[in-house]
Amino acid sequence: MAEQIARKEYDLSPLKNANLPMIWVLGGPGSGKGTQCDLIVKKYGYTHLSSGDLLRAEVASGSERGKQLNAIMEKGELVSLDVVMDLLKEAILANLPTSKGFLIDGYPRDICQGEIFEKEIVPCTVILFFNASDETMKERLLSRGKSSGRVDDNEETIMKRLKTFHDLSAPVVEHYKDKCKTFCAEQPPEQVFCGVSQCLDALQQQACA
Ligand code: ADP
Ligand code: MG
Repeated sequence: MAEQIARKEYDLSPLKNANLPMIWVLGGPGSGKGTQCDLIVKKYGYTHLSSGDLLRAEVASGSERGKQLNAIMEKGELVSLDVVMDLLKEAILANLPTSKGFLIDGYPRDICQGEIFEKEIVPCTVILFFNASDETMKERLLSRGKSSGRVDDNEETIMKRLKTFHDLSAPVVEHYKDKCKTFCAEQPPEQVFCGVSQCLDALQQQACA
């Protein structure tokens, strides 16, 4: 059971004092979150963190916690939120000395995860929400699936992921609508990034003011 994985204590005061942008990046599977995050990292020097990548990296590290995680994931059970929060905290603190801000990609998956993040870490500064139709997302994932090697990029799983997104993640956008910037993600990546840049430039100006 995930509950048996040991929790750790973290001192998050350096993060609170640094007052860096903490940006949640939301959108359905295939909406282009990863693509936009890569462009943001290049231009703004933010640190890109995805909970899925952190979990896979922890397993690959061969640590005790990674072995326990692997056992849970192999059984197809959900990893407890506590562990995801710990991995996020560790990654944020490890990158803090050189980071200009954080992009949290694909998290929170539901409102509860958002509330816990803001309580245990820091409040989110702004949410970037990439809005694309189901047809567009499905098409992109099917074409990504030809080369990604990701087991979840097949038609049956894609339909399930889209449903989960609409049921759980879309309400996050509504719940946090005051902090949320929505971008039409149907256009080519460079065009989507134009709007994103305007938003992030404005954020940096506010921070300097
Ligand atoms: P996510 O991280 O939201 O699941 P990705 O960034 O991995 O989405 O993008 C999914 C697929 O769609 C990738 O193959 C990517 O190259 C492609 N893609 C991303 N953004 C766009 C876009 N604006 N227009 C066309 N294709 C895109
Ligand atoms: Mg992604």
